[in-house]
Amino acid sequence: MIIICGGGIIGLSIARELLKRGADDIIILEKEKDIGFHASGRNSGVLHAGIYYTPDSLKARLCLKGNLLMKEFCRNKGIPVLETGKVIVTKNLEELKILEELYVRAKRNGAVVKLIDEKELKEVEPYAKTVERALYSPLTAVVDSKRVLKEIEKELIKSGKVRILKGVKYEKLLNNSEIKTSIGNIKFNFFINSAGVYADRIAHSFDVGLKFKILPFKGTYKRLVKEKSYIVRGNVYPVPDIRNPFLGVHFTKGYDGVVYVGPTAIPAFGRENYGVLKGIGLEAISIMWRNFVLFIVNNKFRNVALTEPRKFFEKIFFKDVSHMLKDISVDHLIPSRKIGIRPQLVNWESKELVMDFLVIKDSNSLHILNAVSPAFTSAFAFAEYLVENYMANGGLK
Ligand SMILES: Cc1cc2nc3c(=O)[nH]c(=O)nc-3n(C[C@H](O)[C@H](O)[C@H](O)COP(=O)(O)OP(=O)(O)OC[C@H]3O[C@@H](n4cnc5c(N)ncnc54)[C@H](O)[C@@H]3O)c2cc1C
Repeated sequence: MIIICGGGIIGLSIARELLKRGADDIIILEKEKDIGFHASGRNSGVLHAGIYYTPDSLKARLCLKGNLLMKEFCRNKGIPVLETGKVIVTKNLEELKILEELYVRAKRNGAVVKLIDEKELKEVEPYAKTVERALYSPLTAVVDSKRVLKEIEKELIKSGKVRILKGVKYEKLLNNSEIKTSIGNIKFNFFINSAGVYADRIAHSFDVGLKFKILPFKGTYKRLVKEKSYIVRGNVYPVPDIRNPFLGVHFTKGYDGVVYVGPTAIPAFGRENYGVLKGIGLEAISIMWRNFVLFIVNNKFRNVALTEPRKFFEKIFFKDVSHMLKDISVDHLIPSRKIGIRPQLVNWESKELVMDFLVIKDSNSLHILNAVSPAFTSAFAFAEYLVENYMANGGLK
């Protein structure tokens, strides 16, 4: 019996991969009453194409492959894939240098990218603005992430070999082959922790990854008024601060035609702090303490903490994004209810934000920590990698 804790894209993709390799008794525990309540159902739905990541990273290895596998899955299941591509635009000559570095990184990662001039940019995104050059990624696409989750779920259930226990929460490890859940104790041969924003806590309950702690960041969005949605065809991104794991607030036209502007990365005070006060509990005190310590000792974090919360203010939010597009004014941005929590892992010994996906295997458990963006894109390739490298090709020895 294999137990997977967490019915997000990572847990579901691992189950799918294990099935392909012959596993026949899998339980997925999902504490919510349905799948997709957290990051996997609240993201931008962008299938990234391997641009940003340092060449030796898992993100670089898995993102592009995941993009292609996910597109194939969507085509087979009849899920629309908006193959609209993406442009990264600059706001000054200094950013141009970073853009060129991104181009080199992308090429090393095997990504398909082109540096384009303003005239070429106009053909891809007629309303986008850049200084001299932009980076064009034709393989970036957009999907309906909830629909992807639902189709995987259907496939898993149809196999008859996977049970998804909804509304069932992992509570604690009882001994090395038994856990306590909200509906009773369950025995296991192998346990997979893919619990998203709770993955550190669950790893700690196995005495694993004790130096890692998750800090939640709030990803809020605005949207363009409907009459202005024509000014974005696909994805318009800024040049990010490549010292941080966040890609910057961007414009993405969703499968529903709505142009979302976001997400921010504002420090949150709870792992499910979706509202202003909603989702804030006792842990808020230790989260605030961690934020405070990082603020003091880590200047990259300080930069995020100083710049991101300002985006709560409409005019500042607008100022940060308006350089990317022509014909846009502050009135064109309206509130959106779309919001997600981005669980960022911190190495508490070095006080550094962990930039890559992190996987830790213990004797009969596997812990997926820091499944941050582009983990949705990478999920199928990530699952293949995990099963091949940590679960002896599904044999789990
Ligand atoms: C705002 C935002 C935008 C993003 N945009 C993109 C994007 O455009 N492209 C991209 O590739 N990635 C994007 N990402 C990242 C991507 O969504 C995540 O990396 C990915 O969804 C992580 O999947 P997961 O399965 O690890 O986590 P989750 O989707 O959070 O799933 C974990 C599940 O575990 C369950 N769980 C937790 N604790 C327990 C417990 N004790 N017992 C039982 N169940 C439990 C939770 O309920 C949850 O359903 C974005 C993320 C956010 C937040």
